[in-house]
Amino acid sequence: MSDPIKTDVLIIGAGPCGLFAVFELGLLDMKAHLVDILDKVGGQCAELYPEKPIYDIPAVPYVTGQGLTDALMEQIKPFGPTFHLGEMVETVEKIGDPLFRATTDRGKVFEAKVVVIGAGGGSFQPKRPPVPGIEAYEGSSVFYAVRKMEQFRDKRLLVVGGGDSALDWTLNLQPIAKRVTLIHRRDQFRASPDSVNKMKTLVGEGKMDFKLGQVSALEGGDGQLVAAQVKPDKGDPYRIECDAMLPFFGLTMKLGPVANWGIALEGELIPVDTAAFETNVPGIFAVGDINTYPGKLKLILSGFHEAALMAQKAYKYVYPDKRLVFQYTTSSSSLQKKLGVA
Ligand SMILES: Cc1cc2nc3c(=O)[nH]c(=O)nc-3n(C[C@H](O)[C@H](O)[C@H](O)COP(=O)(O)OP(=O)(O)OC[C@H]3O[C@@H](n4cnc5c(N)ncnc54)[C@H](O)[C@@H]3O)c2cc1C
Repeated sequence: MSDPIKTDVLIIGAGPCGLFAVFELGLLDMKAHLVDILDKVGGQCAELYPEKPIYDIPAVPYVTGQGLTDALMEQIKPFGPTFHLGEMVETVEKIGDPLFRATTDRGKVFEAKVVVIGAGGGSFQPKRPPVPGIEAYEGSSVFYAVRKMEQFRDKRLLVVGGGDSALDWTLNLQPIAKRVTLIHRRDQFRASPDSVNKMKTLVGEGKMDFKLGQVSALEGGDGQLVAAQVKPDKGDPYRIECDAMLPFFGLTMKLGPVANWGIALEGELIPVDTAAFETNVPGIFAVGDINTYPGKLKLILSGFHEAALMAQKAYKYVYPDKRLVFQYTTSSSSLQKKLGVA
């Protein structure tokens, strides 16, 4: 174990909510270190839908998952957060009042007055469809997320699933792929009716295919898919030639080590109060998708609001003798100085 890294706040998870927490904490003079299992910042936005548009960030009519991540990184730059990527926080224990010690799977030790858990769905993993031998194609011609749309230009794509991700990627990739086939086990969808209607229109215009059935086997070699065999509910099995398959069967939410930190849980989520988004352990907060409270919406904008209120209470732990004065960034020269604009 290395010497402890001392910080005001340790943020576990560098998703959009963890990143915005840096901003709100920074405005109040609290320094943060962030740890994330992924090798990049941005959480779900950067890992699962970097090129997909988000339309409901307040005052930002359109931004992609990666665009939002980049903008957040720009916004928090003045506060100089330190990132520890590719590391998982394994333990968190209380060693003072308040003081916490956290350790990572790479042997790093942190001592922080406040811990903010922004762990989203935990260590999220895509659900693997039950197709024998699929592992051999993963990462080369079977993909559970679209990192770069260009990689699928002029390819024959098989998109599998009936939820929002399957339908959204079908619609996004259809214009650039050679041919897209969407395959789903039934003619009912969990995806938004608007997306389903758009897909059916494209099928009606002959611009893509929709098939009913389940992929039962894959054909190919050296990681390169050639075709998928499909079992329909009725009728004979058939094959679809394809260069890549994109199964969207949802994500498994693995809470991971968070479950062992002595924090009260409700299923896989952390209950918090709505005044400060603090857990049952004073000094440990939870923001973003990982928390739960009456009326919780798993939206990025909710996590941003939660981060702002969390920072107000965190201040009391980090600076117990100081009084916090509420200020606007538009008019406070001291905040503008921190932001490097005055
Ligand atoms: C396809 C798709 C489309 C979406 N579209 C929208 C939209 O239009 N609008 C909207 O508001 N929301 C949307 N969402 C939801 C949005 O992405 C989430 O609400 C948001 O990402 C939650 O942010 P977060 O920071 O709480 O968690 P996450 O983004 O999940 O990030 C959590 C991070 O914590 C890390 N982590 C977990 N456990 C540990 C640990 N023990 N140690 C270290 N790191 C850890 C993870 O690796 C991850 O990077 C969408 C989600 C998906 C999947």
